Amino acid sequence: MRRLLALLAVGALAGGVVLLLAGVGAGARAGREVEVRLFAGRYEFSPPRVSVQAGDRVTFRIRSRDVTHGFAVEGTGIETTVLPGREARVTVPAGRPGKLRYRCSVICGPLHPFMVGELVVEPNRWPLWGGALMVLVGFLAGAGAARTTPRPDLARWRPVRWLLRRRALQFALIAPNLAFFTVIILAGLVGTATGATNFSTIFVWIAWWGLLVLVLIPLGGRLWCAMCPIPAPGEWLARGAIVRHRARPLGLGLAWPRRLQNLWPAFGALLLLVLFGLVVTTRPLVTSLMLLGFAVVALGTHLVFERRVFCRYLCPVGGLLGVYSMLAPLELRAGDLAVCRECRTKACFRGGDAYPCPTFQFPGGGMTRNTYCLLCTECLKACPYDNVALRVRPFGADLAVARGRRADEAWLALLLVGTALAHSVIKLGPWGFIKSWANLEAAVPFLSYTGLFLGTVLGGLPALSLGVAWLSRTLAGAREVPLRRLFVDYAYALLPLGLGAWMAFTLAVVAPNLSYVPRVLSDPFGWGWDLFGTRATTFAWMPLAALPWVELALLLAGLWGSVRAARTIVGQAFGDGAGARRGLLPLAGFLVAIAWAFAVLYFG
Ligand code: SF4
Ligand code: SF4
Repeated sequence: MRRLLALLAVGALAGGVVLLLAGVGAGARAGREVEVRLFAGRYEFSPPRVSVQAGDRVTFRIRSRDVTHGFAVEGTGIETTVLPGREARVTVPAGRPGKLRYRCSVICGPLHPFMVGELVVEPNRWPLWGGALMVLVGFLAGAGAARTTPRPDLARWRPVRWLLRRRALQFALIAPNLAFFTVIILAGLVGTATGATNFSTIFVWIAWWGLLVLVLIPLGGRLWCAMCPIPAPGEWLARGAIVRHRARPLGLGLAWPRRLQNLWPAFGALLLLVLFGLVVTTRPLVTSLMLLGFAVVALGTHLVFERRVFCRYLCPVGGLLGVYSMLAPLELRAGDLAVCRECRTKACFRGGDAYPCPTFQFPGGGMTRNTYCLLCTECLKACPYDNVALRVRPFGADLAVARGRRADEAWLALLLVGTALAHSVIKLGPWGFIKSWANLEAAVPFLSYTGLFLGTVLGGLPALSLGVAWLSRTLAGAREVPLRRLFVDYAYALLPLGLGAWMAFTLAVVAPNLSYVPRVLSDPFGWGWDLFGTRATTFAWMPLAALPWVELALLLAGLWGSVRAARTIVGQAFGDGAGARRGLLPLAGFLVAIAWAFAVLYFG
């Protein structure tokens, strides 16, 4: 079996390299002069996709169908303005094979950031050699053995420990975010309705979202939860204190209903958020009202129920952070469980000189995953034996923990992959009709979009996943293993690929639109201010030529993590024999196919 895997890997590598060289080499040919008549109208270019040969020089003759638009080719610095009634001409040398995105660079309405078209330079081998690389990565990751590595405890370093034990630490992290949050709410309520020039939409969906997905989640898991301003006012009110520890909280402290002690409420909230994603992310007022709604619900639940039930059970972003935090290279755990067994106070769970764990976690009881740990450091402050550790560890370490896998977490993992796919089509694709369907412009198209979206994320993808579990069990010859268990367990293997895809998608959306951040800093309400002299920052601010390479690297890294996790999970279900290796094939193939689908969307 190993020899077969090695042969397949070498074959895939050779194929990938040949296709890559063929694709890159094709760029040297001399080509034709090609003229393309292009129409720009809210919010698509027509034709949405133009195919030429490598070496061609493409002259676009562009006319606007409605308002003033821009035409900018990502990564080339080529940009022009298209005025109504006037033809704009711009020439783009199609040097290398691949896909170039052109986009509107003059704000033209709510969906302006997603008005894109595609210039495909043939022979575009990116999806092919990308696919070959994915097969290779899939097989190599599946064949590799996991190694145990030491996990250094950051809290052992005195300055770090001193800092983590300060009661003011969390307040210091939350306070600036609360100030930003206030401006975001104000800008959404009283500022311009144009999303691209309003602090509310740009700061939340470009600056914060980019930072969250590209930095905080992959490196810190739920680190954002330690500084999130949304639950802070409720928590402070319920505790009757902002910084200091108060033994008798003021809130009613009722128990959260048992039937809702799971992630299904967060799943429902996230489903609504992603279904209305285009409306929420482009309308400042909607963004503002949504965040205000979160803050009000968080306030209410803090005053009525015990601890942070909003963060534990209700928050849609918390659900997303929870499942992806399992991949983070940082974990907070009890240091020595033998000390915990002797401990009488169990202060990390019950509280003591600090508050009890706000999400009902019990580090001393053998907490094994990051999912519900907000990194609030209360347990670190409460433990009388200094027995709580903040460790650095390998990426994705929690995926190897077999105990405690749950259906609600598994469905969240599937929902997130499906959503990354759907939103890549809507926001990065050149198809204007699907953008208008998702933009809630009319009831019937929106219902069609809803059917398609829900059918994919709640029907198609889970059905495929179930089929993979059944095939894997059949090939492994282990009919005694319950299919439901395999369905749940296998969904955890999707997490690294899901996060890689979200990172690639986020980068493709955020990077070209990053110039709006300095603009709204100077003019947060869109009222014509220029506070810091950055209101006129231009689109060409970001170098975008390397974007496809980074996206491919993120997808490959995600796939690598997923197949390695799959190998561990399949081993836990079927043991280490030949049956397990056969059982791995459908799951690894499924993961490669999903990664390939993303590659085709991004590069094809
Ligand atoms: S308070 Fe400290 S020693 Fe006691 S159970 Fe919790 S982590 Fe362990
Ligand atoms: S386990 Fe500790 S750091 Fe994590 S949420 Fe609970 S108290 Fe906070």
